[in-house]
Amino acid sequence: MFNKNNQNIERFDKRVWLSSPTMHGEELKYMTEAYETNWMSTVGKNINAVEETAAGKSGVKCAAALSSCTAALHLCCRLAGERLYGRPEPGHGALEGRKVFCSDMTFIATLNPVIYEGGIPVFIDTEADSWNMNPKALDKAFSLHPEVKLVVYAELYGFPGKVDEIKKICEKHGALLIEDAAESLGAYAAGKPCGSYGDYGAISYNGNKIITGSSGGCFLTDSEEDAGKVRKWSTQAREAATWYQHEEVGYNYRMSNVVAGVVRGQYPHLEEHIAQKRAIYERYREGFKDFPVRMNPVTEGTVPNYWLSSMIIDEEAMCSVVRTETASDYVRETGKTCPDEILEALAKINAEGRPIWKPMHMQPMYRMHEFVTVSGTGRYRSNAYIAGGVKDVGADIFRRGVCLPSDNKMTKEEQDIVIEVVRECFV
Ligand SMILES: *Cc1c(COP(=O)(O)O)cnc(C)c1O
Repeated sequence: MFNKNNQNIERFDKRVWLSSPTMHGEELKYMTEAYETNWMSTVGKNINAVEETAAGKSGVKCAAALSSCTAALHLCCRLAGERLYGRPEPGHGALEGRKVFCSDMTFIATLNPVIYEGGIPVFIDTEADSWNMNPKALDKAFSLHPEVKLVVYAELYGFPGKVDEIKKICEKHGALLIEDAAESLGAYAAGKPCGSYGDYGAISYNGNKIITGSSGGCFLTDSEEDAGKVRKWSTQAREAATWYQHEEVGYNYRMSNVVAGVVRGQYPHLEEHIAQKRAIYERYREGFKDFPVRMNPVTEGTVPNYWLSSMIIDEEAMCSVVRTETASDYVRETGKTCPDEILEALAKINAEGRPIWKPMHMQPMYRMHEFVTVSGTGRYRSNAYIAGGVKDVGADIFRRGVCLPSDNKMTKEEQDIVIEVVRECFV
């Protein structure tokens, strides 16, 4: 195998992942306990333990254990919608026809639930300094649409932005905040855990997250009443009666006690995972310090969980790239590179990288949705990173950015090779 400069390179026998599950043993103990006591259901000790630990770690009074973070976000949207606009008629969404301000640079699961409830996402541009929702753009959006009463905010890659400022802006405009802390479990902003800023919060135990249950998530709140509603809705919304009695629509969203066993066994290792991810980030930063790149920014006053190490290539070091909707091509140039060349180089050594999450306003399904930047508002029209004469920060980070292998089982030696391979792309 040869790299860009025709040097012979070694290939990892065992794939080095972006982020894969890391088990420790206790997970099996709690799963086995569920099996042996026959609590093979959506009720049991593991579920109760996860709810207690999750609330404690995320700095809220209550947590409700669910089948996924997406399910948690769905119920966040329903709660917010019913509180703002009242209970919808059957067959209608709680956010029907209502605009909702959403993070733009995030995974699609942040806002799919807005759509489930009939809401209309309006995307708020990203801040170059924090890679998270830009508070100034959010303020601008409120001045354009003062009737909007809900904001859905996600922390990107475990590096919190200015969520405290976002919260204040929401309060100023009488809007509710849903905080998608799927990627930022264990991270802090302004002295408080991510997940505790929202009126409603959500975390994920998906297989690629900082800790995992193989799947699963939690709804977070300070309201006992809302946690109760979520538990009820997540189990088909049964009323208190001996027979099946129903007054409102429900879902089958409750966490399994077996999955909860895995999550319960993982929580004691959260800090250890964060320390490993942090060491990975620091090694990348050191390894690329003389290269024309910038690692994902650590915003002042925040403590990231360092879930995914990522970087953007300086404009001057970018080779020519053309991206269509689903494919890309680039021109090989000496002294320059691009995300796709780096990803190809990583693939050659059996390491997994990924482009930065493609911003929501650039997705075909949201192309006609409004996109608000600091300097203006418009709709995304082409594959250019300047939309309507307005600097589109998200598109720019997407064009120049790449997520690096960040698996906490990656050894220092493996990471040294990864760093060397990426550095070679700039030669
Ligand atoms: C992973 C992720 C989700 C979805 O989590 P699931 O538990 O897989 O439903 C939501 N939002 C963000 C930002 C994520 O990264």
